Amino acid sequence: MERFDHAAQLLNLDPGLYKVLRNPEKQIIVSVPVLRDSGEVEVYTGYRVLYNTSRGPAKGGIRFDLNVTLEEVKALAAWMTWKCALVNIPFGGSKGGVVCDPTSMSMGELERVTRRYTASIIETLGPDSDVPAPDVNTNERVMAWIMDTYSMHHRHTVTSVVTGKPVEMGGSLGRREATGRGCMIVTREALGKLGMSLKGARVAVQGFGNVGSVTAELTAKEGAIIVAVSDKSGGVHNRQGLDIPDLLQWVREHRHIAGYPKGEQISKEAVLTVDCDVLVPAATENVITRKNAPHIKAKIICEGANGPTTAAADEILEKKGIFVIPDILANAGGVTVSYFEWVQDRGGYFWDEDTVNRRLESIMTRSFHEVMGLVEKHKVSTRIACYMLAVDRVAKMHRLRGMYA
Ligand code: NAD
Repeated sequence: MERFDHAAQLLNLDPGLYKVLRNPEKQIIVSVPVLRDSGEVEVYTGYRVLYNTSRGPAKGGIRFDLNVTLEEVKALAAWMTWKCALVNIPFGGSKGGVVCDPTSMSMGELERVTRRYTASIIETLGPDSDVPAPDVNTNERVMAWIMDTYSMHHRHTVTSVVTGKPVEMGGSLGRREATGRGCMIVTREALGKLGMSLKGARVAVQGFGNVGSVTAELTAKEGAIIVAVSDKSGGVHNRQGLDIPDLLQWVREHRHIAGYPKGEQISKEAVLTVDCDVLVPAATENVITRKNAPHIKAKIICEGANGPTTAAADEILEKKGIFVIPDILANAGGVTVSYFEWVQDRGGYFWDEDTVNRRLESIMTRSFHEVMGLVEKHKVSTRIACYMLAVDRVAKMHRLRGMYA
């Protein structure tokens, strides 16, 4: 919200609209009673926050985690609002979660939590009102249960009520790779701004899950040299470049990077400060801090993860002249292809993977250059430029619609 405030100030947002945009539209708190396999009844707390729907149906993930709080869900719903506006897709922002520990649940318990939570928030869900997606500890299996529960209540199949579904039931080709592909595209564009190209660029990637591994794979395919990669278990460094398909095979067999023999073993944090041109934090939040920011050698940071840079580190990176591609732009490829999934479900007409990738490419490059236009015009950081572009789009919609009284 600090970033929103800064952007609002630079945009000269009028005080009334400022107040409207600073508050979520709707906050729902539900109790989710679930029968455990033991026969006992447990009651979990669930949230769904619709932050803003002026530009279209709310869009945002559902997480199952013990750390879920209403404050966090509100913040993440706001974040989704700005992210969708930034890439100019016709969605608002939302987020949801259930406070529970899915690692201690059986498949049956997880299904019952999902279905009961879905039923509890069913009035706000819908292709025209609020469209969930996977998030922390939820996946395409969970999305399939949500789609089924919603469809049973509506007495007909409604695939477009969630995205991130299995391809067999209306998911989109290219969705799995979309976030990493988006990271590759904006990294390529940023390198271009610095007179460089992906060919021969040295890239370090923190996190080797969905976002990190796909970013590494696709940038390597474009000729980049992946000099370091890490996951929860540790990191590996090789100045000559890591063979990413080989590393992926190792991780499939061993479940983690630690022990991979074709490089020097380093700590998972050391990946952030290796000598490279591009650093891709694609693991978790708050990893680039006041402490390690002065030691970062990359020229470009592509924030694949959400919120990897603390505010204190941000200042240091700016002083060092590092080109930051902020999270709301860098990882927006995921929500963009979720949008494509929703469009395909609604049209009942499915695109081949090339079409998905081409359209993603067009949205990511356009958004990148729109942000750069604002950076140059207002002499602001890339992060503030992203917020200015996003907040301005939402504000414009409110002005055009006027206030319903
Ligand atoms: P994931 O669970 O598939 O992968 C996370 C990876 O990070 C794993 O390899 C894990 O071992 C590693 N990791 C965790 N802590 C680490 C640490 N301290 N140091 C090094 N590695 C660590 O998750 P994901 O879907 O790839 O998401 C990664 C980040 O990207 C998250 O912040 C997520 O919110 C964000 N994001 C994901 C998507 C998407 O489409 N998957 C979209 C937008 C944003």
